[in-house]
Amino acid sequence: MHARYKTILLFGAPGAGKGTQGKVLGNVPGFYHLSCGDVFRNLDMSSPLGRIFVEYSSKGLLVPDEPTIQMWSQNMHARTVLGIYKPHVDLLVLDGIPRNVAQAKLLEKHIQVLKIVHLVCRDKEKMMERLRRRAIKENRIDDAKEEVIRKRWAVYESETFPVLEYYPSSLVAEVEAMGSPAEVLEHVLEVLVPVQNAHFRSPAGGDEAPPAKPAKAGKDAKALNGQTGKPARKAGAKR
Ligand code: ADP
Repeated sequence: MHARYKTILLFGAPGAGKGTQGKVLGNVPGFYHLSCGDVFRNLDMSSPLGRIFVEYSSKGLLVPDEPTIQMWSQNMHARTVLGIYKPHVDLLVLDGIPRNVAQAKLLEKHIQVLKIVHLVCRDKEKMMERLRRRAIKENRIDDAKEEVIRKRWAVYESETFPVLEYYPSSLVAEVEAMGSPAEVLEHVLEVLVPVQNAHFRSPAGGDEAPPAKPAKAGKDAKALNGQTGKPARKAGAKR
């Protein structure tokens, strides 16, 4: 079995801005973003799985777990084989998966969750408004109807929210979702940069980074130097 992908989960209600933050992060060296919804939307809609996706998403429902996880893991594997995603260099940023506790369990053998960024917004109507605007702008059939938006929220509250309880609370960082994208990004990075520094040495250089242990800075820094022959980064050495 391959090593588990070192992963960050972007978590939050529909309309919280997971996709927006994920896309921006995905453009930063050392982060690799994958949205499960995007993978579904890029399927051939006449394929068997494409049809299942349309059937469920058009009602605001989740696609069943087994085909979802299978598609996801095949997709990830293909990305690693093609070298699009480099597990030793990039921190994987997932949004839209896991969507329920069963998916979280199925993902255990594939991912090592290092942090969960919970984009929090207490104003439900504001998020609904975001969804309506996005549906028009991006021509998303699944978000176009009011009843579908409401259904997706109900599914989030009953099935997805409990995912937070599944993981240790120490992994969860709450970030206020209602600021501007740049403000939210600032806070997301405050959470994620230390995680990246702790687990990956030099994302900009594209080097492979051996996994680092959290404590004992001096020893770790030496170990990193020994393995790569290059000086460890300052931020890494500070740990
Ligand atoms: P959001 O607008 O919250 O980002 P997505 O784009 O992630 O929504 O998902 C759109 C639709 O794709 C969902 O309503 C659901 O039907 C399907 N989907 C996406 N991810 C998953 C998943 N992990 N499990 C089951 N269904 C999913």
